[in-house]
Amino acid sequence: MSNLIGAKPKVGYYFTGQELQKLNMMTFDTILVANTHSLPIVVKEHSSVYDAIVTLFIEDVGTIFVVSEGNILEGAISRKDLLKAAMGGKNNNELPVNIIMTRMPNIILTTPEESVLSAAQKLLSHQVDALPVVNAIKEGEKTKYKVVGRFTKTNITRLFVQLAEN
Ligand code: ADP
Repeated sequence: MSNLIGAKPKVGYYFTGQELQKLNMMTFDTILVANTHSLPIVVKEHSSVYDAIVTLFIEDVGTIFVVSEGNILEGAISRKDLLKAAMGGKNNNELPVNIIMTRMPNIILTTPEESVLSAAQKLLSHQVDALPVVNAIKEGEKTKYKVVGRFTKTNITRLFVQLAEN
């Protein structure tokens, strides 16, 4: 809306050439999580800690989301959660991830419609590295959250560099 940022398919965001001073936080307020997030990396709630560690290495991510049938969010596991479990001396092949994960409703969420600025503020204020990008599914009184993406500090860094380079 500020005309500072343009968008092209397959190119991404670019700086339109307006005065750099105007490239303020308002810009980040107009870019949505939907246009910046990554694919979610998930494990099922009954997967073992061992499988989660293997997934962490194979997918090269720092946070894994734990889901039940239909990709419904149940929890999150970070690098340090897995490190702690690995140091615990238990059999990681038999220890399910839902024992060590941070579980719902304590997970901080974002949605495709949220601004990048607002999601970034959540990362900082809650001191976490990643937010699951979710779509809410209402089932009577209950709301479930389907995981559709992963919003991380890397997404913000990539956007920042894209804007600066263009
Ligand atoms: P690390 O533990 O590797 O430093 P984080 O800072 O992201 O990584 O995670 C800190 C703690 O917060 C961990 O116990 C993790 O389970 C939890 N956590 C990670 N992501 C979220 C989130 N989006 N909402 C709530 N808790 C989270």
